[in-house]
Amino acid sequence: MKRYLLTWVLVAIACTMTWAQAPQTRPLTVRTQTIAHRGDWKPEGSAQNSRTSLQRALDLRIFGSEIDIWLTTDGRIMVDHDGKRKGISLQDTCFKACKRLTLTNGEKMPQLKDLLRILKRSQSPTKLVVEVKPHRDPQRSRDCATAAVKAIRKRGLQNRVMYISFSIEACETIHALEPQANVAYLSGDRTPAELHAMGLTGLDYHINVFRKHPEWVAEAHALGMNVNVWTVDKPEEIQEMRELGVDYITTNEPAQCEAMLSR
Ligand code: MG
Repeated sequence: MKRYLLTWVLVAIACTMTWAQAPQTRPLTVRTQTIAHRGDWKPEGSAQNSRTSLQRALDLRIFGSEIDIWLTTDGRIMVDHDGKRKGISLQDTCFKACKRLTLTNGEKMPQLKDLLRILKRSQSPTKLVVEVKPHRDPQRSRDCATAAVKAIRKRGLQNRVMYISFSIEACETIHALEPQANVAYLSGDRTPAELHAMGLTGLDYHINVFRKHPEWVAEAHALGMNVNVWTVDKPEEIQEMRELGVDYITTNEPAQCEAMLSR
């Protein structure tokens, strides 16, 4: 009887150890999903990184809508891709100097908090994909990441955002502050295993990186990580990436991409 009991105890311990070592399970993605690159900005009256482009993406009820953020010298988070407009460099100026900047559709350049307000009010399942731009000084990239995490946490929107960055410092900072956050690296120069070892949850690479390293998709999935590809607009390329098995396609044509992927 004693030997019988001992056998069962050993089996139970072995099962527990196997379970504890199992890789983190990748969230179940039913199919490849669409992320709008800088929002749904192409239609008349919209603009990249605008309130309108976010609202349009939320209305499409696609997986995600991406924005780009910069930190001003006095700690405000502005939303813009290039980080320069009308001779003003966002990372080198204070909020007062950039608050009157306008977008091509006439809207004022938004701050992150303006877009978080729109997200919070919306019932859409669409997530906000926040790209922390690499600032000239890596410490400012870390500061921008920290400020974004705080702003998102303050509004209780942790489950409705994902983070991406070309700055490995920004990725590390977000993971350290918010270990449950979905954080993907953009630069294309690290393997899934390297990113996984740092605690990151995804890779978000240019389409040509996956053409060179198609094996990274399966490697990432085996590690429980998500795979995002940018920026894919042509139908034949959307199909190519879908067949490769990526989780998300970041595109300037979100409505058309979603129509293809949902078929
Ligand atoms: Mg971006």
